[in-house]
Amino acid sequence: MKEMILMTPGPTMVPEDVKKVAGAQPLHHRTEDFYELFSNLNKNLKEIFKTKNEVITLTSSGTGGMEAVIANLFSTGDKVLVASIGYFGERFYDIARAYGLDAELQDFGWGNAVDLDVLEDKLKNGNYKALLVTHNETSTGVTNNVKEIAKIANKYGVAIVVDAVSSLGGIPLEMDEWGIDAVITCSQKCLMSPPGLSFVALSERAWKMAETSNLPKYYFSLKKAREGVLKPNPDTPATPAVSTIMAVAKATNMLLELGLDNVYKRQAEYGKRVREYIKSLGLELLPEEKIASDLITAIKVPEKYKASEIISHMKEKHGVLITGGQGPLKGKIIRIGHMGYVTEKMLTKTLEALKDAIDKEG
Ligand code: PLP
Repeated sequence: MKEMILMTPGPTMVPEDVKKVAGAQPLHHRTEDFYELFSNLNKNLKEIFKTKNEVITLTSSGTGGMEAVIANLFSTGDKVLVASIGYFGERFYDIARAYGLDAELQDFGWGNAVDLDVLEDKLKNGNYKALLVTHNETSTGVTNNVKEIAKIANKYGVAIVVDAVSSLGGIPLEMDEWGIDAVITCSQKCLMSPPGLSFVALSERAWKMAETSNLPKYYFSLKKAREGVLKPNPDTPATPAVSTIMAVAKATNMLLELGLDNVYKRQAEYGKRVREYIKSLGLELLPEEKIASDLITAIKVPEKYKASEIISHMKEKHGVLITGGQGPLKGKIIRIGHMGYVTEKMLTKTLEALKDAIDKEG
């Protein structure tokens, strides 16, 4: 099997040192070695989430973390607003509906960011228990201004839940300082690890909400998981994805050694470089530049090209994997992920491969 450079929105590239750990014999999860590793991971996660509260590790993909937050914080019929700007906003709405919440979808349009004035109007008059919002909408390459969104939610006493599945550890997010009640992320994007884990942190207010939630939960009980995390020898209620835990412990050590601010700076540079290059090729970004993500770039595919052909050219001829659009954007855009472990060399190769595809396929 030929190894590809994954310039996708996840799974992303995994550094060699992390791959070695992920491929090693898994620890037994009821041993001192595991407790030590898990303690280290929990400490790292708190630093990355920028929270003093516990971060819960769940064996699931990011969607499982989103589902866990819904099942643990809410009760049947709770009124929530989902501020959606794309595919993953709609997924949050679907989960909320599946659990019997009175969820309202406020669609700001695929390719747009949340309009703060419209949001404020909704929250002022809506009597919502919570606002669910995506930080970095991976389907459209748009980053929401979560700091301002959280300010508005807090102004009206509405709890705020943030899907940071494709953003945490890549762009700034200050859970405690910004007053966010729940943050969800996963192992296979900015945290430079294989898939298999989601991570969830709750504010004190959210833990109080969890006390009264009447929705069914067992495997995804955050309360039970927190009891495990708080033990002197921390563990998980069931067998976790130990190999992925080993990988994320290593990867988060690496991220923190590098320094989160340096990571954010590098991501901002990568984002700008990709956007400049796209424009130099005469291509157009899907979103306006001021809301464009530094982690994933969505590019409009001009009429004379086929998205699938650009993608397969880059894959077959250059060994670089990018992705196409989802939902209504299928066939209309291509997306280059540049989050997580991306070297200068990988980025250069990707941009050159794109240019070659454009030259050949046009
Ligand atoms: N939310 C966002 C913003 C995502 O980008 C993704 C995955 O791409 C998800 C949720 C779902 O995560 P997973 O595929 O790990 O379940």
